[in-house]
Amino acid sequence: MEMTNKKINIIYIASNGRSGSTLLDLLLGAHPNIWSTGEFQNLYWELKNSKQPCGCGKHISQCDFWKPIILDHSSLLESGIIHHFRETGGGGKVVRFGEFPYIMRKSWGNLNRQKTLENYGKKNAEVLNDVLQRAKVYKGGQVNWLVDASKDLYRLLWLRQSGYFNLKVIHLMKIPQAFVFSMTKNDRGWLRFKRTFRMTGRWIVENFLIHQAVRNHFSPSNVIKLGYEDLADAPHQTLEQLMHWLELPYDPSVVDQFRNTQHGISGNEMRYRKDPVKLDIKWRYLLPPFYQKSIRIMTAMVEKNWHVPQKDNR
Ligand SMILES: [Zn+2]
Repeated sequence: MEMTNKKINIIYIASNGRSGSTLLDLLLGAHPNIWSTGEFQNLYWELKNSKQPCGCGKHISQCDFWKPIILDHSSLLESGIIHHFRETGGGGKVVRFGEFPYIMRKSWGNLNRQKTLENYGKKNAEVLNDVLQRAKVYKGGQVNWLVDASKDLYRLLWLRQSGYFNLKVIHLMKIPQAFVFSMTKNDRGWLRFKRTFRMTGRWIVENFLIHQAVRNHFSPSNVIKLGYEDLADAPHQTLEQLMHWLELPYDPSVVDQFRNTQHGISGNEMRYRKDPVKLDIKWRYLLPPFYQKSIRIMTAMVEKNWHVPQKDNR
């Protein structure tokens, strides 16, 4: 296939799970200059297991957009390189100790690792370049950004280190109380107690690792930290800021039209609902005050140091 020397522009959404990445992905993907792939690294699993259909509602293998791409790259998809960090359809590992030295320092590792990275970038670029060309056919030649909402920190690091992509990173964070609530709301008693602290720890660790990786491997102008609550509460204002950062014109119609047909992979069920953007604050009433306070104390320090631009709505 034909490859251009130009790096592919990618807006990468990095976050821990359940942080509103699907909403952000849909809103970005509605912009005339942007095409969203959804959780791109899950393409193979959705093809095999079809946990969720494409954003258009069809199975990935039947989707007009993905079908030719899948046919052209079937052996590459089977090889496992794109879902390298997605061991199962359900998810990938949260903690990979082998990658820590590269997260914490500006290090590319030995020659072997560099070769692996080069290959990872090259194979991803092969498919993503086709995605971009097809997106131009579908939406218009003005499309010049892809969104990858894979969320995965390790994928982000490898894409970056491979050198094949021009990456802009949105580090999306949900208020920790809201995240913990969404992860524990079906647990009761002692289990809930344990999981509340475990999930608070997970929130801290995952966001800490993303924070370190972007700090060590990206110039500050290519990274933005975004509070999910700000996006859901003030979508116009927040998107206008994002577009300014991306150097794209702001198109207010995206907020009303983000549910129009799109072809994102995976993502949560909100893709198929019809309601407008709305901030969910159930946790404030349903998460017991003791837990709210504990989570707040545990996360106060890190949050403060990260300068999450969340307005004080806790
Ligand atoms: Zn589709």
